[in-house]
Amino acid sequence: MNIVLFGPPGAGKGTQAQYLEKKINGFQISTGDMLRNEIKRDSDIGKKIINDMNDGKFVSDTIVNKLIQTVISDPQKKDKLIFDGYPRSLSQAKNLDTLLNNSNQKLDFIFFLNVNKDTIVKRIEKRKIQENRSDDDLKTILKRYDTYMETTKPVLDFYSKNPNFHEIDGTLEIDEITAKIDHFLNV
Ligand code: AMP
Repeated sequence: MNIVLFGPPGAGKGTQAQYLEKKINGFQISTGDMLRNEIKRDSDIGKKIINDMNDGKFVSDTIVNKLIQTVISDPQKKDKLIFDGYPRSLSQAKNLDTLLNNSNQKLDFIFFLNVNKDTIVKRIEKRKIQENRSDDDLKTILKRYDTYMETTKPVLDFYSKNPNFHEIDGTLEIDEITAKIDHFLNV
C-alpha cells in the first residue's frame, strides 16, 4: 500500500506519517527530512539547497525528484511508501506517477489535510520551540504557506480527480485525523 499525505506545512503530515509507518509497517518518505539531512552532512546537494530551504522556497524539482527516485527503486520499500511533503508541484506529481508505474506500483490513498493559515501559524510557532528548526520563524512560515498555496493548487486539482483522493479537516485533533485515516484505510 502506498500513501500520499498532502497539505501545507504544519498540517500534521509528519505526525500522521509516523502513525502510518507503524500501522502498515511502511516507510515515511519525508523530502523535508531528506533535504535537511543533506544540509547536515554538508553534501554537494546540501550546499546547493541551504539558502532556498532557509528562505522557505522550494528546492528544485531536479534535486527532489532524484532523491525520490532512489527511494522508489528500493525493493525493500516497495508498496510500503508513505509520502510526506512530496509531491509539492504538478511536475513532481506527474514524476511520481511515472516512477511508480515504472516499478509496477500505484498510489492507493491520497490524503489531503486541509488547514487554514491561522492554525498553521499557531502550530509552527509551537513546533519551532519543540524542534528548533531554522526555517520556522514567522516570516518564513508565511512564505512557505504562500509558496505552498501557489504551487500546490495544480497538484490538488490533479489529485482531486483521483478516486483514491480523500480530503480530511486538518484542524481536527491528531487522534481525530488518525481515526478518519483509519476509516478510509478500513483497517
Ligand atoms: P517540510 O519538512 O516538508 O516542511 O519541508 C521543508 C522545506 O524543504 C520546504 O520549505 C522546502 O524548502 C523543502 N522541500 C521539502 N519537500 C520539498 C519538495 N517536495 N519540493 C521542493 N522543496 C521541498
